[in-house]
Amino acid sequence: MRIVIISDVHANLTALEAVLSHAEAGGTIDALWCLGDTVGYGAQPRESLARLQELGTLMIAGNHDQASTGKISTEEFNPIAATAAHWTMDRLRAADRKYLDALPEVLTQDKFTLVHGTLHWPIWGYLTSHEASLTHLERQETPFSLVGHTHIPALVVEQPKEPRKCSLSNLEDGARVELSHERRMVINPGSVGQPRDGDPRTAYAILNTNSETVTVHRVEYNIEASQRLIEEAGLPRWLAQRLALGQ
Ligand code: ZN
Repeated sequence: MRIVIISDVHANLTALEAVLSHAEAGGTIDALWCLGDTVGYGAQPRESLARLQELGTLMIAGNHDQASTGKISTEEFNPIAATAAHWTMDRLRAADRKYLDALPEVLTQDKFTLVHGTLHWPIWGYLTSHEASLTHLERQETPFSLVGHTHIPALVVEQPKEPRKCSLSNLEDGARVELSHERRMVINPGSVGQPRDGDPRTAYAILNTNSETVTVHRVEYNIEASQRLIEEAGLPRWLAQRLALGQ
């Protein structure tokens, strides 16, 4: 099985299409898993959601998905994110909001647990520290978990025989993670629609269940096209500018 793992599409359909083309060029896609924040920030929330639905994507909820349906308030959001969330809510159809509203926060698929943030704090937790990684691992009942939310491709590996220790590192383009039978792992595929590690290329990962590997890919896409749509939509300009910076 060749499973495409994506997260944080953030209504950037141009980036999503680039990921899908790149993944398809590498072979058959058997499944598509999305780790939340399909909408919010970008100008094509309806289109991005429809595209993922059409592909039968397995989806979970992110904070931006829930904010765009009113399930959570935008009080915790910065002003730009809140403006984008309200704009997104108006753009979505009732059926879209209903669909996003019903998405689970945590989902288990065979040896993998899928969650947007962390298992400690599914919608809001950032897995960016050893502390957060350890509290996440304490709740992880499968050998592997997949998270998003930070918009940075990363890997956490539990140290064998020392459950209170783990390593945390970022994953570069082409990084290939061998799935271990002894150490539990957490993998973040990065963000499709709004990378934040200084590399503006879209990010995703491929899980190959035969070779038991996860490989991270970075792909160039037409950033200007996504920026233009954000500006035409009247969304805050920073949301367009940051795409070129990878921030
Ligand atoms: Zn996000």
